[in-house]
Formats: sequence, C-alpha cells, structure tokens
Amino acid sequence: MGPPGAGKGTQAKFIAEHFGIPAISTGDIFRANVSQGTPLGVEAQRYMDAGEYVPDEVTNLMVRNRIDEPDAEPGFLLDGYPRTLAQVEELDGMIKFTGHALDAVVVLTVDQDEIVQRLLQRAQVEGRADDTEDVIRRRQEVYTDQTAPLIEVYRDRGLIHEVDGMGEVSEVTQRIFAALDDLPQS
Ligand code: AMP
Repeated sequence: MGPPGAGKGTQAKFIAEHFGIPAISTGDIFRANVSQGTPLGVEAQRYMDAGEYVPDEVTNLMVRNRIDEPDAEPGFLLDGYPRTLAQVEELDGMIKFTGHALDAVVVLTVDQDEIVQRLLQRAQVEGRADDTEDVIRRRQEVYTDQTAPLIEVYRDRGLIHEVDGMGEVSEVTQRIFAALDDLPQS
C-alpha cells in the first residue's frame, strides 16, 4: 500500500521475484485491457482517466479470476488491491475460499511533494493518461479518503509493515526485504 507514486509497482516486482510468486497488479491488468480494447478496458478507462476507482464489483471479479490461475496457487503479491473497505471484505472471502492467508501488508511511506514530482516525471516518460496534474491531485484525494483508512484495519490485524519509501529504489527494496525477513522465501 501507499499513495499513487509511492513506488508500489516498482517494488512489487522485486518482492514477487524474491519470494518466487506472481505480482498481481490491478492497475497493470486494467491498463492491459485498455490497450487491448476489451469490454473491461472500455469500462475501466473512463474511471482511470478521471483518477477515480473502477467500481468494486468489476475490480473484485477481475482479482478473483486472477488468483484462481494456477501460478497464484503457492501464493501471490497484490499491488494496488484492496483499495476500499468493500475490497478488503471481498479479498477476505476470496482467500478463505482458496485456502490462502494474508502474511503481510507493506505500506510505503513517502513525502507528498516528492510523490507529485515523481508522477509528473513518469507522465513524461510513460505518457500515462492518468498522470496529468489535475488527475494526480484527484488520485491522491481518492487514496486519502478511500484507501488510507485500510491501513488501520490491517494494523488491527497485526499485518502492517511500514517502510520508508524515500531514496534509491534499491535501498527501498532492501528495507522491504528486511521488514519481511520472517516470512518464508522460495
Ligand atoms: P495503479 O496503477 O495501481 O495506480 O492504478 C491505476 C488506476 O487503476 C487507478 O487510479 C484506478 O482507476 C484503477 N485501479 C487500480 N486498482 C484498483 C482497485 N483496487 N480498485 C479500483 N480501481 C483500481
């Protein structure tokens, strides 16, 4: 977890590799559907372009289908999901069904001003439609309103590992590995 631009996607790939599990990024799956012009992509795009969340029913079904894939059987890392309280509940139900359990929730903490700079830079490099200044601001509001409260939910369950997300990518990766040191590795 962490606000837009905290580096979740970048770090998710390293964590997944380290533990030998797939990184499941809802943002990436939505973007792949948008670029392929699937019905899911068409539906998701208008929310993404506005910096709003795609409706829970759509997102939940997509995640449910993805974690049913054979490669997720030994475990998986979720990047960008859950983002709402309804998604937390849905995820609880899904993993109860599949026999998985949540081992850890990593929260990347970052400086708000630096985040905006990172996102504006990414807009230039990657040209993401949701990286304009207005949309960046809206995405941060939505994160604060709908997603930040999830941290307390997972803190109550003893799952939160807060990691300083500032600095070099490799430094942040090492901090995450240190924080997750007790978890089983592949
Ligand atoms: P991300 O790449 O994780 O920042 O996601 C990009 C966009 O995809 C978000 O701004 C949302 O519009 C949408 N999205 C990704 N994950 C979710 C989610 N769990 N729930 C709702 N919308 C999502």
